[in-house]
Amino acid sequence: MRNAITTSLFDLLKVGPGPSSSHTIAPMKAGFDFMQRLRALPKAQKALATTLEVRLFGSLAATGEGHGTRLAILAGLLGNLPDACRPDALSQTAAHQEACQLDCGEGITLPCSTKNIIFDAVQHNFEHSNTMIFRLLQGQVVLLEQMYFSVGGGFLRWPGWQEPSLGQPAYAYNTMASLKKQLAATGLPLHSLMQANEMALHGLSSQAITQKLDHLITVMEQSVLLGLKTKGLLPGFIGLQRKAAVMYAQAKQEQFQGAGFLKAINAYALAASEENAAGHCVVTAPTCGSAGVLPAVICMLKYHMGAEQQDLRDGLLAAAAIGFLCKHNASISGAEVGCQGEVGVTSAMAAAMLAYARGCPLQIAENAAEIALEHHLGLTCDPVGGFVQIPCIERNAMGAVKAYNAYLIASTLDASYQRVDFDKAVAAMAQTGHDMSHKYKETSEAGLAQSMAEC
Ligand code: SF4
Repeated sequence: MRNAITTSLFDLLKVGPGPSSSHTIAPMKAGFDFMQRLRALPKAQKALATTLEVRLFGSLAATGEGHGTRLAILAGLLGNLPDACRPDALSQTAAHQEACQLDCGEGITLPCSTKNIIFDAVQHNFEHSNTMIFRLLQGQVVLLEQMYFSVGGGFLRWPGWQEPSLGQPAYAYNTMASLKKQLAATGLPLHSLMQANEMALHGLSSQAITQKLDHLITVMEQSVLLGLKTKGLLPGFIGLQRKAAVMYAQAKQEQFQGAGFLKAINAYALAASEENAAGHCVVTAPTCGSAGVLPAVICMLKYHMGAEQQDLRDGLLAAAAIGFLCKHNASISGAEVGCQGEVGVTSAMAAAMLAYARGCPLQIAENAAEIALEHHLGLTCDPVGGFVQIPCIERNAMGAVKAYNAYLIASTLDASYQRVDFDKAVAAMAQTGHDMSHKYKETSEAGLAQSMAEC
């Protein structure tokens, strides 16, 4: 099959600092990568360098300040990588952001601060909206230049970037229809097919996949537990109060019954999203901005619905299939298609996970994902002040509740009632996202970001 999905589960779902995978994880990787290129220069050449400059474009320029992009780049330049850095790496970098020394290798250092990282044009003609240009300079003379694109979900690309050579998927697919054909032909359950593809494409053993899945589940659960314990204000000028702990206390008081059950879902999603907004480590699921929904569902399944660890692993593999299809055929970037690509996609992933982990047939999981995605279509991305706080945090809670409701609708009704299939919902998301004004795609130029600014 041409154009089969080859993304790794562990590229889609990965650990890194919030608050925005496009704005923190990929930029941190870019900073790290540029330093590798710089260090590889001949000593005589890098010794000439007087400064390093980074220019940010698109939504990185529009909302990079609130998203901590400069800190993430600086942390990357200083040698941090998202999946290996301390949970509070951005706060650590902020403490000495005015006077850092970059290690250029061979005993050469270069002073650098967040002032070297410049917010440039929001509108531009580069091939991707979130563009970064790194330059090593001797005065005005460019010694080394590299352009990078943050393409959503923490993925980093650059001109001439080529997909690393991979194995062939054991079972190629690129739509839900072709995935279902493979499942029907092989008789495999979805989670086994996903695992077989991960092994074939990326050479991981089944034991390694299990360990990595468990690590993701642990980090997601920890982000909820930490968020439930923490009170106070989130960083930034908005002065936004954390709400998860209060919501959870009420849910507990109501013994998680009736509205207390819904309050628990909300509290779990708020907790992980608040941790993300604080710049702490979360799992991109599929992005940082949407990092609260899958953890909420994991906690619901584990604490309130009797799910075992294997159910969670299998459910996560089903969720990943949904995320892959959205990424492959539309986008998971708020900067490209608005929030339908972030909270909409994660809500669809979570709905499928709920259904699959609860033992529903695949058709019910697909229907749940379709319902969740369909009812996020057209959702704008308009973060107030560029912070991943309003509307993002509550939007995750709404996405988690919608995922649960989509699962209820899909699992209660006969699957044959469903008239819209998942591929059609993804196509509608791609078209809607394409038609949306750029103002509603993570620029903070419209929507709530605008009306709040005018208050
Ligand atoms: S509004 Fe949605 S897409 Fe935009 S930053 Fe917030 S969570 Fe991400």
